[in-house]
Amino acid sequence: MPNMTKQEIQDFGPDRLPGVGMTSIERARRAIDGGGYWNSNQQSGRRWPVGCVALEITQRCNLDCTLCYLSDNSESVRDLPLDEVFRRIDLIHRYYGSNTDVQVTGGEPTLRRRDELLAIVRKVRTLGMRPTLMTNGIRATRPLLEDLAGAGLVDVAFHVDTTQRRKGYCSEMALNEIRQSYIERARGLPLSVFFNTTVHQGNFHEIPDLVRFFRANAGAVRTASFQLAADAGRGVHGIRGDAITLETVSMKIEEGAGTPINFGASLIGHPGCSRYGMCLEANGKLFDAFDDREFIGRMQSATAHFELRRNDAWGVTKQFLQWLIANPAFLFPVLRWAVGKAWEMWGNLIVARGRVKTISFLIHNFMHSGGLDRERIGACVFKVMTADGPMSMCLHNAKRDSFILRPVELHGRGTGGYWQPRSGEITPTREPTAVKLAEPEGRTRLRGLALKRLLAQRRAWSG
Ligand code: SF4
Repeated sequence: MPNMTKQEIQDFGPDRLPGVGMTSIERARRAIDGGGYWNSNQQSGRRWPVGCVALEITQRCNLDCTLCYLSDNSESVRDLPLDEVFRRIDLIHRYYGSNTDVQVTGGEPTLRRRDELLAIVRKVRTLGMRPTLMTNGIRATRPLLEDLAGAGLVDVAFHVDTTQRRKGYCSEMALNEIRQSYIERARGLPLSVFFNTTVHQGNFHEIPDLVRFFRANAGAVRTASFQLAADAGRGVHGIRGDAITLETVSMKIEEGAGTPINFGASLIGHPGCSRYGMCLEANGKLFDAFDDREFIGRMQSATAHFELRRNDAWGVTKQFLQWLIANPAFLFPVLRWAVGKAWEMWGNLIVARGRVKTISFLIHNFMHSGGLDRERIGACVFKVMTADGPMSMCLHNAKRDSFILRPVELHGRGTGGYWQPRSGEITPTREPTAVKLAEPEGRTRLRGLALKRLLAQRRAWSG
């Protein structure tokens, strides 16, 4: 399928609300089916209508990565008003319902006021969705993580890699010192810990060693996620190179894991976008949990309605056992799988005194902004919530400025008016006011000041 033209990219709008007779999960299934990728191992359109939705709560960042999807204009954009963030959270729920994974992201979300960040996480969780904090970790202190966990945070995803040019760390192996300190910060909290690594020509060869690090921390680290470098946004890194593909990165992960991993048993949307695999760990060794593709497909289909709270292993186990008792036809296949795994792992199980941990590997293949595959955009499972609805992250990154620089119509509380992203002012019309206003005194008082100015303006105009 040919790539999208510039005109197509410009015209392609956010998804419409699911309508009568077509739920969002049916829509997701139709998109996968349309490409000929529907089968019993597919999760999109079966377990969920969307893999995750990014909620960008700031465009600011405290790093300057060589690969960054933000825009050159991002730092000049004020933080979205809290009411608008709340409205977008409600929208995510209207589109996708409970159990949706919501990535609280930016920019760097911890740059947002602490009370606002906590309120955002709380609101996501109150609606029965699963909030994940996407952070570079610099400001994600232990007290903040504790407070966020108390507010309902489910996952924390630390982004650490060489694209960030952290002073004194010139390789992925050197960065393991930072990764280890982040693991210790989150240890013991009811959070599942992810690590995100952007794969580029400079660190591709380090993937096996990095996977060995994650393997040594299995359990404390629940998911190691690898994003293939994409030429999008303000990053200066440029092209990724032909050697870096879903297949070659899968092989590097297997090399570090010390075992083949079946990346085809649990499918996440379009095969050009993602790979996912899961391993069991005992005594420092990994074993592929998904090596029986047919069994995994059957089980995942039958348990597609499970909530699967990643930070509540006991709750998930209990739910599974109750389901198994109610569905005895699955008892024998489950026992056969469990006995087979125990046989394969038995020596290591004895040394580990029966303790088994899990670790997942995810590879995501973001597209270059100049090479968007229409079919993949149509079947996208990773969306960003805009003011008008969700949109594919790849597509959003290809025209980010048209979203972040556009005045936002304010809804609710009788506010009306438009929020101007560059000044933070609230104006009665979409156009920024021609009246010269003083600079706000600080971001923390931004919204209050903007409202005061609007009222003063209105008084002046009506007088
Ligand atoms: S964001 Fe891009 S790479 Fe990811 S699922 Fe959507 S279309 Fe595919």
